[in-house]
Amino acid sequence: MPRPHVAGLQSARLRPYVGIEPIRDLFVPNLRAAIIPVTPFQQNCTLLWSEETKKGVVIDPGGDLDHIRQAIAQNGVTVERILLTHGHIDHAAGAADLKEELGVPVEGPHEADRFLLDRLPETGLMYGIEGARAVTPDRWLNEGDTVQVGEVALEVLHCPGHSPGSVVFVSPSQRFAIVGDVLFQGSVGRVDLPGGDGKTLMRSIKDKLLPLGDDIAFICGHGPMSMLGEERRTNPFLVGEAFV
Ligand SMILES: [Zn+2]
Ligand SMILES: [Zn+2]
Repeated sequence: MPRPHVAGLQSARLRPYVGIEPIRDLFVPNLRAAIIPVTPFQQNCTLLWSEETKKGVVIDPGGDLDHIRQAIAQNGVTVERILLTHGHIDHAAGAADLKEELGVPVEGPHEADRFLLDRLPETGLMYGIEGARAVTPDRWLNEGDTVQVGEVALEVLHCPGHSPGSVVFVSPSQRFAIVGDVLFQGSVGRVDLPGGDGKTLMRSIKDKLLPLGDDIAFICGHGPMSMLGEERRTNPFLVGEAFV
């Protein structure tokens, strides 16, 4: 069983933002994150919590709940809610089970992904993933909403394109975001799945993500962390004439 690793250890460059090094400002509560790759798709389920209160959230519990339970126990986190960035199976198929087990609400994604969450059992059969359950969030999220991680409020951005109901969670004070499958290190979300649209995805990235600032560190749905500035400068999908 792979041991969950603390996100801040992945890159020394990112340490001031998430993980090991506390931010030395009493008015900015610290967040910590543990990334737990789950499902055959190695999706970055993220346990995110307040350093001060140990209250936190599980974001995108796609499956492999035993690994998620282990990360919660190891870090002594009190999980208050489950957040979903979008309705794809590798992000959402374990949400119903974890919700029942922990007795916490599911918040997100945007309601435009309801059709994906409703058909998770069928999608599970298609991909050979056992035990995928449909889930109906206790709260759908819209642009401008906030969700709580302990005493820290994350802002919600609706970023369609990869799926119609994809949302991104941003902490402006911590210069940190969780972007799901909207943007990756060196790539962007695929747009060939039901409800996907390439132009819409690019507008979401250009109009909503990049203006947040180059110094925003982000955890994405697959692969390593990155920073918005790094992607703005080097991501092949975001440079050149194709990106207008
Ligand atoms: Zn996805
Ligand atoms: Zn994914």
